[in-house]
This record gives sequence, C-alpha cells and structure tokens, in this order.
Amino acid sequence: MASATDTGRQATAAPAAGPPAIELRGISKSFGAVQANRDISIRVRPGTIHGIVGENGAGKSTLMSILYGFYRADAGEILIDGRPTEIPDSQAAIRAGIGMVFQHFKLVPNFSVLENVILGAEDGALLRPSLAKARKTLADLARDYDLDVDPEALVEELSVGHQQRVEILKALYRHADILILDEPTGVLTPDEADHLFRILRGLKAQGKTILLITHKLREIMEITDEVSVMRRGEIVATVTTAKTSPEQLAELMVGRKVLLHVPKGSAHPGREVLRIEDLRVTDAQGVARLKGVSLTIRAGEILGIAGVAGNGQSELLQVLGGFARGRVSGTIAVDGQQIPAAGKGATGQTRRQIGIAHVPEDRHHLGLILDFTAWENVAFGYQAAPDYQAHGLFMDNDAILRDTRGKMDRFDVRPPDPMLPAKSFSGGNQQKIVLAREIERNPVLLLVGQPTRGVDIGAIEFIHRRIVALRDAGAAVLLVSVELDEILSLSDRIAVMFDGQIMGERLPAETNERELGLLMAGVASTAGAA
Ligand code: ADP
Ligand code: MG
Repeated sequence: MASATDTGRQATAAPAAGPPAIELRGISKSFGAVQANRDISIRVRPGTIHGIVGENGAGKSTLMSILYGFYRADAGEILIDGRPTEIPDSQAAIRAGIGMVFQHFKLVPNFSVLENVILGAEDGALLRPSLAKARKTLADLARDYDLDVDPEALVEELSVGHQQRVEILKALYRHADILILDEPTGVLTPDEADHLFRILRGLKAQGKTILLITHKLREIMEITDEVSVMRRGEIVATVTTAKTSPEQLAELMVGRKVLLHVPKGSAHPGREVLRIEDLRVTDAQGVARLKGVSLTIRAGEILGIAGVAGNGQSELLQVLGGFARGRVSGTIAVDGQQIPAAGKGATGQTRRQIGIAHVPEDRHHLGLILDFTAWENVAFGYQAAPDYQAHGLFMDNDAILRDTRGKMDRFDVRPPDPMLPAKSFSGGNQQKIVLAREIERNPVLLLVGQPTRGVDIGAIEFIHRRIVALRDAGAAVLLVSVELDEILSLSDRIAVMFDGQIMGERLPAETNERELGLLMAGVASTAGAA
C-alpha cells in the first residue's frame, strides 16, 4: 500500500528537470457543432498546483473529462510522466495515477467513510482486504494530509466539506499522484475552503500534482503556481501566478476589461414592501426547514441572504414565490397586503399580479422550460399579461416575439434568436432570458436566488448591474446567494441563515467574510473570534 511519502516525487515546486507530470498535446473535442476543446496543449510540472480558469462553457470540464477517461478526444495526445498514455476509461486514468474529485460527489450516502473509500478499489470488493488494514491505511493518509474524517461515520451524516475529504481520500487510496478538482469550493463555507486549501498545500508538499479548476480568481491567486486561461475552447494563456493579477486573468477570460466590483450608490430605502413574521416550514418528511423567520425589506433596498446551501434559503424563496412544499405557518405581507403561503390571495391576484417577480435558484426546473423556445419562455408565467393578449382570448405570438427580440437586445442575449430552444443557450444567456422576463415587468418585489450560478464573468457583471438598477428604480430585492462575494457587493443589508433561522443581520460595511462565515457555520457570538 502506498503511503503518502513513497511516491518518489520531489517535494517542492522548484523547476523540475524531468518530464511534466501531465502533458496535453493538441487535444480537440467536439460535441456536434460545438467545439468544446480546440488544439489544447498544457504542460503541468510535477509537484505543482496548476489552475485552470475560464468562463462557463469555456471547455474546462470537457478537458478534465478527457484526462479522466470520460470522453475520448477527437485528436491529440496525453503524456503522463513523459509517456504517451491512452485513457479510454476511468480505470485507465486510475492506473495512470490520476484521481478526480467530483463536483457532485459520487459517494454512497448510507455507507461508512471506510466502506466508501475501499468500494471499487482494485483490491476492494473482490479480495476483501482486511478492514483493519484498510483502516490503518486510511488513518495514515488522513494524518499525512490533514484530512481528518471519522472512518466509521456514515457519509450521509458528514458535512459537505467532509464528504469532499472522503473523495480526496478515495483518490489517494487508489494511489493517485495527480489530483483533479473541478470547482471544489462551490459547495464549501469559507472555513471549509480554507481547510481544503491547507490539504492541497500538504498534497503538493508531498509531491502530488494538482489540477484545480475554479472560476474564483482569488483562489487561483492564493494557491496555484501556474494558471492556464481557457476561452471558447482554447487556451489563451498560461502564466505564472506570481506574475499575474486577478484583473489580468479576468481580462484574459473574457477578452475585455471587466469590473470586479459592482458600481453601486448608497440605497435610499422607502416604504416597507415585504414583511415576514415567524415563517415556519415543515417538509413532507416532518423536518423543520424554516424555524421562525422574520424579516422586512423596504423599497429601494437589497436584502442579501447569506448561508451555506441547505439552511432554509431555498424554502424561503419557495414560500415567497408561491410554491411552498410541506406545512407552512406565519405571515407574509407585501405592501401591507397579506398573501397566503400558496395560490392566490384574498383579492384573487396571483403573486405576479401583486408585483412579485421571481428569478428562481434552479433555472432549469423552475425558471425555464428547456425544450421550449426563448420566446415561449419569455411568455412563461406572463401569458395573461394584457400586452401578450390578442382580442382578450389568445396569446398574441407576434407581440411576444417582438417583445422577446427587444428583451434579447436589451439584455445582450446571444445568439439573439427567439426561436431557439432555451437549452441551446449557455447558462449565462439562459439566466439573462429569465432576468429579462422578470425584471422588465418592474416588480415591487424581486426574489432572486443564485443569480449568477454557472454564469460567466461578463454575464455576472451585467446581471449585477441590472439588479442594482432595479433597486434604484424603487424595487425591494431579496437576494439569496451562496457566493459571499456576491452578497457583500450587492446587498444593502445582509441576513445570515443557518439551520432554518436568521443567525444575525449585518451591514456590509460593518462586517467581513470571516464574521459572516462564522455566522454561516452557526456560531452566533463572534466576539473575540479569530
Ligand atoms: P466549462 O466546464 O468550462 O464550463 P464545459 O467543458 O462543460 O465547459 O463545456 C464546454 C462546451 O461544450 C459548452 O458549450 C457545453 O455546452 C458543451 N458540452 C459539454 N459537454 C457536452 C456534451 N456532453 N454534449 C454536448 N455539448 C457539451
Ligand atoms: Mg465545468
């Protein structure tokens, strides 16, 4: 059994005399008309952390999938430690010493950590190694790499951060010398991300080679030795991290200058628009998801809800958006008018008629119908709007098409073709379609969840500006995001949710990521915290 120290690699990032740990030569890959990777060449030195950044859809995951044997390249060559290596499947990748930490973990929830780690390993199911031996190996790995997890714990009982450690342990248990992590911090709290970075530094110190995919430039700057920038399927640059800046990387990614900060004047909050009192939601399994949430939002104000995914934010948006699941109690009032947990209010008005717009967290399920065209999606939810009606009876398709063209133009949706099905747009452009539909109705209250998840930097900037513009036009905005940067830069007030409750409220100018991170982890009193 390989332990952490017998890989025989050099332990520092000093220029290696030998061949690159990974070399890709001229890799190309198309999916139908989409060329996801075009003539990609990268050399990754052993014992280094190599970052790959690029906008959504740039081709990063495709490239990693080729390296891990999920896809076969149409052309090109892979060399591992200088040897041309065929990687037709993931077994071959594992044999070549490559481990992958998946974005969506592939662990068995009701198995223990130990069982998950040995499951499917070469000497696992068939040879039934003594569990004691495996346990010892796991303990060694965990100690060497600061990967502390209880081997007997059930995976389903672990936090997301710990589950990720199990994925890393799994790869190490299979003797991986090269580790690929695709957007690993998207699901982590700031503290968990810090811990992950400590682990990665430890792995590097032991000579492991790490490929880190992230769209977070701060992470690239913090931990990588070199970084390759991908744009539209190509590598546009590979630079030494110490010699670049976030601004330069952002510009390389999108090919033009971008603002990393949202230009935003101070808020001028007006009347109270939303008042929620003691809102409680219990799901079908009887689990309390919201445990007495109270909050208010004024006109012309953005309230940001920070929190690790799964602490009640989704349920809050669902109740406000009118599709609550489970049992709901408490009160919701918009402009002083009580609205029920679901369905129409006392006046028979739907939420949209009251002026509540909703950009849902999950645009693929609630925001869009992917097989429908862009123009049908623009009408989605607003079929009854007077400007979409002909003779008060039918939808006026011409009017909707015209309106969609205008929206696509004003929101810079590419390609600006209303007849294309929603699924053929990139994530950023899909989100712009949803946003155009919701924002251009001038809502009194905008509910917006994860507005820039899976969206490229250029579109992020655009979406942020639109949300601020809506605030400045007098709307109340409830913003839910797991991206602290986004919460901090957009919000006029920040409420942190943990375990179905509001842990506290802060003003962005009077708090920081660390304090918010502690609140997100459920630590109420931050007095004296490091
Ligand atoms: P990234 O990881 O940088 O966001 P991806 O590698 O996932 O980018 O995607 C690159 C491009 O290839 C995108 O246009 C995407 O829609 C397309 N693509 C990726 N996987 C597939 C697939 N299995 N079938 C068709 N198109 C795909
Ligand atoms: Mg990806």
